[in-house]
Amino acid sequence: MIRIEHLEKRYSPPGGDSPIVLGFDSLTIAPSQQVAVAGPSGSGKTTLLSMIGGFVEPSSGGVTWNGLPWPGKPGALSARARARRVGFVFQELNLLPSLSLFENLEAAGRFLGLPEADPVIRRALERVGLAKRLRHKPDQLSRGERQRAAVARAALYPHELILADEPTASLDRTNADLVMDFLIGMALDNGSALLVATHDPLVMETLPCRFDLPARRIAVGSARRKGTLPGP
Ligand code: ADP
Ligand code: MG
Repeated sequence: MIRIEHLEKRYSPPGGDSPIVLGFDSLTIAPSQQVAVAGPSGSGKTTLLSMIGGFVEPSSGGVTWNGLPWPGKPGALSARARARRVGFVFQELNLLPSLSLFENLEAAGRFLGLPEADPVIRRALERVGLAKRLRHKPDQLSRGERQRAAVARAALYPHELILADEPTASLDRTNADLVMDFLIGMALDNGSALLVATHDPLVMETLPCRFDLPARRIAVGSARRKGTLPGP
């Protein structure tokens, strides 16, 4: 069970402009729950996912995981233990340019300490339609193919939580449906909770719950945006 309580992130833009304050009301994510984080560009989706993932420190408020502060004090958890807990499909995809697609997933598998990664990698790439692209480097692939590869990478380990930041942004409808089917099915198979940031109404419809982030209206002071999580 993951809870956020009145999270706030304050960004000070360079050049001395007024700070941007993003506020997020309470949200509880139950084990295996699947939630869309919905909002237009600039509403704070990436910031919220990064704070829940433990990559960005909130300015105030906090995240708890099974009642304990997450990610805890620096050094409390090894990088491997954190990576096993949370899988992330980053908006920038973060594939290593000098490695082939297969080697990228192999490196992730090694970091996670996956035994027998080879068949798991092949199966994941096959399921996102990339079985014939194993030896390609990221720059030899389309943006959509790279996006599908990043989703496959998140499927290598049964993470407790998968955070996917606009995982269908570069995809046509057919591939967007394929990726969402894959993400949802993989999360169900692995018993992972799934949080998908998106502004695509069709993606929102595929997920049973929704947490809304309204467009940012105020750039100064303490603008608080209200999030609601209707029941499934
Ligand atoms: P979204 O993912 O919904 O597009 P973001 O979380 O990326 O929203 O950004 C929300 C707001 O915070 C934007 O106005 C953005 O410019 C600002 N922001 C995000 N990251 C930073 C940063 N590192 N420094 C300054 N401002 C930032
Ligand atoms: Mg974003």
